[in-house]
Amino acid sequence: MSKLHALFGGTFDPIHYGHLRPVEALAGQIGLKKVTLLPNNVPPHRPQPQASAAQRVAMLQCAIADRPLFDIDTRELARSTPSWTVATLEALRAERGAQQPLGFIIGQDSLLTLHKWHRWQDLLSLCHLLVCKRPGYATQLDTPALQQWLVAHQAQDPQQLHHAPAGYIWLADTPLFDISATEIRQRRHAGQPCTDLLPDAVIAYIDRAGLYRD
Ligand code: ATP
Repeated sequence: MSKLHALFGGTFDPIHYGHLRPVEALAGQIGLKKVTLLPNNVPPHRPQPQASAAQRVAMLQCAIADRPLFDIDTRELARSTPSWTVATLEALRAERGAQQPLGFIIGQDSLLTLHKWHRWQDLLSLCHLLVCKRPGYATQLDTPALQQWLVAHQAQDPQQLHHAPAGYIWLADTPLFDISATEIRQRRHAGQPCTDLLPDAVIAYIDRAGLYRD
């Protein structure tokens, strides 16, 4: 059985079906047995999540209660300072050893700006990048360095992800969900329903906690 394990970072303010469904499809397509959700600590100079770190974790717990594919790693929230993805991956790599195949999942929008990530070119020495489609974002990369990097590392067969610990980019053919956390927060503030955008258990938590209200 493959030991390929994937991580999926995000603000998750709140988690929604645009996160869950493409990743579930990806897992089926490439044979992922476990996906670890990594809620981010947002840097102080960026707009802060509306939900607290504890509330974002609680929403993840509601979302995954009946989804055994997922678990949660709160290490980035436990730090007092924001952590770079590359640093989190270095820590995970040290824990898991050099041979464990590791994937890091991002959406297409994140791929378009990956060259702005801290030490982005080091990411593939630590993991594979698994990219889910996201509607509303260009599929062409218009940053030449990023495009060349993609061409040099793009996997052609999912087996490559299982047989190497890191180093490949997989552009997954996942279903499109035109959902964002921003839209959900806006709909909640406007008193509009969010059914079908996120799991009922997360909506129930948002109601109980009084989140995303003016
Ligand atoms: P916000 O609207 O607050 O910016 P978001 O909905 O984009 O949030 P994040 O938590 O910022 O969600 O995203 C975490 C990861 O999930 C990113 O890699 C992003 O590309 C991916 N992602 C988010 N929404 C979708 C979606 N609808 N389809 C595919 N990937 C998505």
